[in-house]
Amino acid sequence: MQNKELTMGKYFATRAVHAGREDFIAMGVHAPPLDLSSTYPTPDLDVAARSFDRLVAGDGPEGSFIYQRLFNPTTDRFERALAELEGAEDAAAFSSGMATFTAVLLAAKQRGTHVVAVRPLYGTADHLLTSGLLGFSVTWATQDAIAEAMRPETALVVLETPANPTLELMDVASVARQAGQVPVLVDSTFATPALQQPLSLGASLVMHSATKFLGGHGDVLAGVVAGSHALVRDIKHVRAATGGLLHPFASYLLHRGLATLALRVERAQASAIDLASRLASDRRIASVRYPGLPGQDPRGLLGRQMRGPGGILAFELGNDDPAVLRDFLGALEIITPAVSLGSTDSLIQPPAALTHRVVDEQARTDAGIGRGLLRLSVGLEDVRDLWGDLDRALAEVSSRLELRDDAAALSR
Ligand SMILES: *Cc1c(COP(=O)(O)O)cnc(C)c1O
Repeated sequence: MQNKELTMGKYFATRAVHAGREDFIAMGVHAPPLDLSSTYPTPDLDVAARSFDRLVAGDGPEGSFIYQRLFNPTTDRFERALAELEGAEDAAAFSSGMATFTAVLLAAKQRGTHVVAVRPLYGTADHLLTSGLLGFSVTWATQDAIAEAMRPETALVVLETPANPTLELMDVASVARQAGQVPVLVDSTFATPALQQPLSLGASLVMHSATKFLGGHGDVLAGVVAGSHALVRDIKHVRAATGGLLHPFASYLLHRGLATLALRVERAQASAIDLASRLASDRRIASVRYPGLPGQDPRGLLGRQMRGPGGILAFELGNDDPAVLRDFLGALEIITPAVSLGSTDSLIQPPAALTHRVVDEQARTDAGIGRGLLRLSVGLEDVRDLWGDLDRALAEVSSRLELRDDAAALSR
């Protein structure tokens, strides 16, 4: 059983509340200190020089923090807390999820310039690999054909689970076995450490767009990656040289967000389970993608890899005409049409037209991202109001929807 909810004698929700706060009593504080210094005094040049060398190499400070791009104690505190929740030795925080992915790729370049990746990925991550902007070539493989796609110069294997936006679950342990010695990066943004710990399943690195559930309130742009000392050291080396680190105020807000993570994910998930089954038994809906629905976890990963199906789902109306989509989204009063996810409020968007428009059209279609697919990030509103909103907006466009005749079949 790889379920790591109970670690070191404490359950996840307890650790999420206390992580990164172990020294508070000794410090005489109850909230994390927020240090906004861009530079730090260096009265002793020898001490400063040694600390500088360590920080540039990706190690911790000794004597002086030197400069905010090299080290910040508020960001370090958030990183330690997140590492603990992922069961990792260390973590590095960045100014966005994409800055995180960029640094992971640049740090991997010493091993080669080839990446094996599983579609679908977040649209811009797909674009970053496909465009060759960072000098990598990519082989797209299914989760069962990783071994065949590996080359001597493969530096990294990349996957997302649940995948954005199709909610497909990828088998992390199986992919890690196929990758052999090559590090596997799992984008765990949709699951958060409240629902899965990819490192315990054999992944080498786990990353998050912390903009989403970790921040949780729609007011922070951030990313974070966790893994072994050695791998994170290389990533911090890249960060010290290229920048892109997280601002300490954002780190403060993220650390604050961790304390309510378990609660927020549980609530979003409970509502998502309810909405997914309502949508699945509604004849106005053509399809629903949600790992918690019957038949949608063919590998049996729920429970074994992920503790629950999560707070995001996707569905298609009984008409994929853009005008119908527009009128449906326009009729929503509580759920906001917007990209991003994992916020207090519910957000909905059509990935083919927005987040995944940068993905090759054929690849998008092959990955199951049709023009009518809508991704719904379930927020913390009362689920009765959320269903009321969806039901009302569906009624507005229902004369143009083809009704499914296998009513309730999706929910069985
Ligand atoms: C949003 C997102 C990203 C990119 O993160 P940013 O913080 O927007 O740069 C990467 N992966 C997934 C799964 C995402 O949802």
